Amino acid sequence: MPPEMRAMVLERAGEPLALNRLPVPEPGSGQLLVRVRACGVCRTDLHVVDGELTEPKLPLIPGHEVIGTVVGHGPQVERFPEGTRVGIPWLGWTCGTCRFCRSGRENLCPEAKFTGYTLDGGYADYALVDQRYAFPIHGDYSDVEAAPLLCAGLIGFRSLRLAGEAERLGIYGFGAAAHIVAQVARHQGRKVFAFVRPGDEAAKDFARELGAVWAGESGDAPPEELDAAIIYAPVGALVPAALRAVAPGGSVVCAGIHMSDIPSFPYEILWRERKVLSVANLTRRDGEEFLALAPEAGVRTTVEAVPLERANEALARLREGRLRGAAVLTMDGA
Ligand SMILES: [Zn+2]
Ligand SMILES: [Zn+2]
Repeated sequence: MPPEMRAMVLERAGEPLALNRLPVPEPGSGQLLVRVRACGVCRTDLHVVDGELTEPKLPLIPGHEVIGTVVGHGPQVERFPEGTRVGIPWLGWTCGTCRFCRSGRENLCPEAKFTGYTLDGGYADYALVDQRYAFPIHGDYSDVEAAPLLCAGLIGFRSLRLAGEAERLGIYGFGAAAHIVAQVARHQGRKVFAFVRPGDEAAKDFARELGAVWAGESGDAPPEELDAAIIYAPVGALVPAALRAVAPGGSVVCAGIHMSDIPSFPYEILWRERKVLSVANLTRRDGEEFLALAPEAGVRTTVEAVPLERANEALARLREGRLRGAAVLTMDGA
């Protein structure tokens, strides 16, 4: 095993990541050492790098959509023999004993640790993961194609579940998560209405290609009342816009980890049992269910491979909204 690896490291929020050479980490008890093949670039990484999420470990290796091969085991590992392909998601550790963990809501555990935020992540040649939080990766996805399933797909799936039985589903912000969720929603027989930023014709076309029955701009009224809406764009002003578009009893699900302030709005648009809720993190059950469903539902991901050392460029393009689907970092030999 080479003693050193490349890693893109955040030393201070607001600064570009630095390409560093670091020792390959040693797996501790219950941990797998994973040779990273691909790591998706998620909007949450941007919030960490830009300092909008304020409690990262520093220095930090970001990245929580990690696909790789198990190449080493610490003591007391029973799962995932060497050579197995695994995925490492955002949820990296939970306490297992708090009232959230004991009631199937480990996504809300106050002690939880998160990959690429409070634990080192996958913007590197190697990463560690607690074997209990790694997922097997099914289907014929290449490593690069599989990476966005780990967060865009997983959190997208959880937000879709929280949208309930909605037949007419609005999606605000048509990026990495939306492009996966639209396919799952269509597989489930729902109608998808896509809302993109004003003037973004490419995003409208992309949404229609993925099965949206209508694509418009964020302030537009959809042709039919929606049963629910999911907001992926980190823009608080979309909350009242989405409330105006949903029918009585409908839900507006805020799926990002960070959002700008929500402007005040008249009670009238919430009245008649409309709901506003947020989605936080994932449970391992979400992961297992979604990763089994994705190949069954024929989910394909649209990805753009970027070499590891160009991570700053991928982050900049995501910040500017200049990506179709998801950017995925690739390591040598991926
Ligand atoms: Zn807990
Ligand atoms: Zn993410």
